[in-house]
Amino acid sequence: MESIFGQLGTGSGADDLCSELFPFHIVLELGESPKIISTGKALTTWLRQDFAGRPFSDCFTIVRPSTPSLDEVSLKAKKKAVFVLSVVEHFAQLRGQIVLIGSDRAVFLGSPVLRSATNVEQLGLSIADFAPHDATVDLIVLQQFTEMQLTDLKEQAVELTEAHEAKDRLSESAATDPLTGLANRRAFWSRCSTELESNRRVALLFIDVDRFKSVNDVYGHRVGDTVLCTLADRLVATLRPTDLVARLGGDEFAVLLIDVDHRAITAIVERIQSTIPQPVEVDGHACRTSISIGVVTRTADETVDDLIQDADAAMYEGRQFGPGRVTWFADRMRVEREERRMLTEDLEQAIATGAVYPAFQPIVELETGAVRTCEALARWDHPERGFISPDRFIDLAERAALIDRLDDLMLGQALAELVLWHKQDPTFGLQVNVSGRSIGPTLVTRINHALDVFEINPDTLTIEVTESWLIQNETEVAAALHDVAELGVRIHLDDFGTGYSSLAHIHALPISGLKIDRSFVGPAVRSERSRRLIAATIGMARSLELEVVAEGVEDEETAALLTELGCDYAQGYLFAKPGSTEDIKKLLTPATDARQ
Ligand code: C2E
Ligand code: CA
Ligand code: CA
Repeated sequence: MESIFGQLGTGSGADDLCSELFPFHIVLELGESPKIISTGKALTTWLRQDFAGRPFSDCFTIVRPSTPSLDEVSLKAKKKAVFVLSVVEHFAQLRGQIVLIGSDRAVFLGSPVLRSATNVEQLGLSIADFAPHDATVDLIVLQQFTEMQLTDLKEQAVELTEAHEAKDRLSESAATDPLTGLANRRAFWSRCSTELESNRRVALLFIDVDRFKSVNDVYGHRVGDTVLCTLADRLVATLRPTDLVARLGGDEFAVLLIDVDHRAITAIVERIQSTIPQPVEVDGHACRTSISIGVVTRTADETVDDLIQDADAAMYEGRQFGPGRVTWFADRMRVEREERRMLTEDLEQAIATGAVYPAFQPIVELETGAVRTCEALARWDHPERGFISPDRFIDLAERAALIDRLDDLMLGQALAELVLWHKQDPTFGLQVNVSGRSIGPTLVTRINHALDVFEINPDTLTIEVTESWLIQNETEVAAALHDVAELGVRIHLDDFGTGYSSLAHIHALPISGLKIDRSFVGPAVRSERSRRLIAATIGMARSLELEVVAEGVEDEETAALLTELGCDYAQGYLFAKPGSTEDIKKLLTPATDARQ
């Protein structure tokens, strides 16, 4: 035995093995969190051919067997062994699930060749260096060494991109999900298609963890991972060995049930729904989770993708009505999905061409009747379908990640009008809606840019953010809002009363006003409860020195009641429906009464 890689370079079997051994994956230890920064090409400066023709001991010495601490990457697969080799000439450490030895060929750990130990002994290695023997091995990881840390940053950036792709390829190529040990999407897909081909009676469950994002946000990713693993184990435990459970990605799981009828499916789903919600104990936290399930059975010649999408659609629909539901697929959901898809395409086009535009609704000071500001509301007249309600298209935009663009477009168009109004009345205000999904680190830049372009005084702009967003991703949202407030732009909490804001939340945020949701304002005159809620909200706002705007005021009685309760401003059909910029211009003289 002279060289390992020398033999690898020649002969067909060896070539295969070699291509499995390469590329290497280089892991850069950045503080606590290791990152794969490169694949292939770079073991320091060595390429594959540089290893070829060299004896093993020239290239590597075994440092120690070890368990991986690299939980960032897919090698964290718990069941796999990792040991550390060091690369002699380059002082780099090689960490990997590998065996590269053999007099005539390289083998992976766990192969019969290795177990026989002959080749290993020839190499003067002890078999103990490779324990455990039955680990399956599918990649090599090189741990980055000091020299590499000096590589210039540009190079690293390129490598990072590569690494990303490599990571994707990696998780695709293996059949198991590294975190949970379940089948992955690919394995699930291929098993499903086999079952479909053999005409089995299959049912597919699409399972999504409710509000999983907040588990991650609140407790961190490590706890999130543990929760996912526990849920995976529980799923497996409730099912028969013939059923297939897979993690499709993120917090999505899928179950394939074979030869089941409606009753059996119902029983299985009930069993799942009764086991899952038990709290998961991690680090002294008891995390409670629930799951939403979509169920589809095969009826005709659906493909695997059809079934997954259908079950997903069912899950999605059920979730609209709350967490923890089981929803069976119905044909109409397919129609709705198609409809949504088409409408979303049209919407994207409409946003790109500026066909979404603002209407303006005055906000009236109750005491004086003066209008000093108005709200911009998005409008879209679909070329074929006519007027589409913002409730519908805003939801589409949010789901298709078009909402940033829509909000930017609205902000730009509305500020363009505000510039004109300011010629007549320089202190007139504008309120613009910003979707919770738009609230992130870039929000301040986007707003600042728009203000710059139109040379608008930030004092005259208010953004309205929906209450329910504030508790999700709290820290990031708070940081973004503080940045915006620092520009001098004001922030109002929209739809107040429908979310879960506590006093503590509001107090910590740079909010200057609340808009009481129209679902409380509408019934205020008739409903004692609504009235009390409004009174309490106003009282609270007073003590926090916040302005209060009531939405959806449709009649004089409500307006009078709100005035009596001490509400500052009101908005609603009583005063004006959302209208054009011309309608606003008519109101521009200060102290104009909107109730003409
Ligand atoms: P919102 O921010 O709560 O806007 C107030 C809604 O109440 C508007 O509905 C308005 O037309 C309606 N309204 C006003 N006065 C009355 C009244 O007296 N009675 C009743 N029943 N309704 C009244 P619209 O225009 O359909 O907008 C619906 C929602 O769509 C908005 O609710 C807002 O959440 C969202 N939206 C609208 N424009 C934008 C936008 O540019 N960006 C984002 N992100 N969301 C927007
Ligand atoms: Ca609003
Ligand atoms: Ca509102």
